[in-house]
Amino acid sequence: MSQRLVLLAKSILTMDRPQPIEDGFVIVQDHRIIQVGKRKDLFLHPSVRMLDLGDTLLLPGLINAHCHLDYTLFKGRVRHEGGFQEWLRKMGRKTRETSTADFKRSIQKGIQESLIYGTTTLCDTATSWESYSLLRHSALRAFVFLELIDMGNPSAMRYWAQIREKLKILTKDQPPTETFGWGLSPHTPFTVSKELLHFAGLFLNGNGKPLTSIHLAESREEASYFRNGKGPMAERIKVLNPAWTIPRKTTPVQYLNENGWLPKLDLGVHLNLVGERDIKLLAKNRISVVHCPGSHAYFRHPVFPFRKFKRAGIPVCIGTDSLASNQSLSLFREMRLFRKNYPGVSSPEILSMTTVKPAQALGMGHQLGKIKPGYLADLIGIPMSRWKPEPDRLYERVIQFSGTVSFSMIHGLPRLRVS
Ligand SMILES: [Zn+2]
Repeated sequence: MSQRLVLLAKSILTMDRPQPIEDGFVIVQDHRIIQVGKRKDLFLHPSVRMLDLGDTLLLPGLINAHCHLDYTLFKGRVRHEGGFQEWLRKMGRKTRETSTADFKRSIQKGIQESLIYGTTTLCDTATSWESYSLLRHSALRAFVFLELIDMGNPSAMRYWAQIREKLKILTKDQPPTETFGWGLSPHTPFTVSKELLHFAGLFLNGNGKPLTSIHLAESREEASYFRNGKGPMAERIKVLNPAWTIPRKTTPVQYLNENGWLPKLDLGVHLNLVGERDIKLLAKNRISVVHCPGSHAYFRHPVFPFRKFKRAGIPVCIGTDSLASNQSLSLFREMRLFRKNYPGVSSPEILSMTTVKPAQALGMGHQLGKIKPGYLADLIGIPMSRWKPEPDRLYERVIQFSGTVSFSMIHGLPRLRVS
């Protein structure tokens, strides 16, 4: 059993109870929170290790439900002109031109940026697969979604056989740890073949169901491809693979359902264009939606239907997407952008989209996303010294916070402290 550590802070937002704890403490032992309360109620042996964070607001570490650390160095390098499919094509070319060393530099830079902006858990969609090892050995808690994409590949069966081999070696040599897990992410329903969806689906059934994520119903072009088999995506696929089956008279969500994938899906990323039937299917299959406000604004996608999801009881989480389509990996910035677009949504609800809701989406709602006894000790601190004492506005102050965090603890270990 490791030594107890007592954190003292001016204020604590637990996300477990609505009111903040003023002059509070959190006791951490063996990676977990064992007690939370008010300083005046703290009775301890003088030898216990204390860390007084002073004028700091402590809150649960933020969970980035979707990003691509592979592309951190692509910031400002892939311009969005000529439509979404054209941007995807340019991204594909840039990815093929990028060396393994550059992907590694990009991922390391993304890890550092995530840490300073208060992310403690990161869901990374990995195109190069290099983030598997780097995130596994990083300070962050991470889930790496290994990306599958076989558009342009003549044989889904051969592609899948190679993936299986790579996966076997990777997960045997570097198995999951207490702070690291992996999942699968078919890239989109239009860049992954029906056959590959089928093989990956069979694999999931027989392997304890790793987490899954997919980009879904993001753009108008994707909607038109599934509706009538026309548009830039259909044109591109016909050039790359004339034998590819182009769907018609359906939607991206319904297409995934027809191919048996909705019951297997945990995180549906984007979902900007959905009809009533799509919403019913997402709710029925208990899928969590990930909205990326910065990336959404960059592409000028149609309005994100937050209220429809809320009415249907579908949880919405927030992610940053990659720096190829966003300016920062700060979830505070994403929450601020969300606030601007949805002024009627309460501040605690917005903060839950980067804490409680993504924790639940990852199947960790009982141990992540709150400061609560028994939960994993993932906490961040924000400096409050310049704040006016307005306890009623604390949640909103968090959402409007534009700096870097002054403290970060992940799995019970202090990882960042600025005094
Ligand atoms: Zn993405």
